Amino acid sequence: MPENLKYNFIIKIIMAWGQRRVYGESRIDECPFCGKRCYIKNPQGIPVCKDHQNKTLENLKCVCGEWLDLRQGKWGPFFTCMNCGNMSVKKAMQMNNLDPNYR
Ligand SMILES: [Zn+2]
Ligand SMILES: [Zn+2]
Repeated sequence: MPENLKYNFIIKIIMAWGQRRVYGESRIDECPFCGKRCYIKNPQGIPVCKDHQNKTLENLKCVCGEWLDLRQGKWGPFFTCMNCGNMSVKKAMQMNNLDPNYR
């Protein structure tokens, strides 16, 4: 196999792997406040429904007691804890009893 073809082949594998990873991420397309479909984002960049477009997630705590920090990732917002690392918005809301599906 010529060197440049080999290179293209490797790039293709890497890209396919990257795409699979995107599907593996828990994408939020439901409003975290009510579970309705999301069409817009709140001021924090979290996808929300029309009714909750001005609602924000603040002062969320991790199970370990640390405050959670909202970050903007490549695939959308997520929370991060100093001790436990990154977690999805949904998981952070479950920890704080804010997930409508778990109440
Ligand atoms: Zn909503
Ligand atoms: Zn923690």
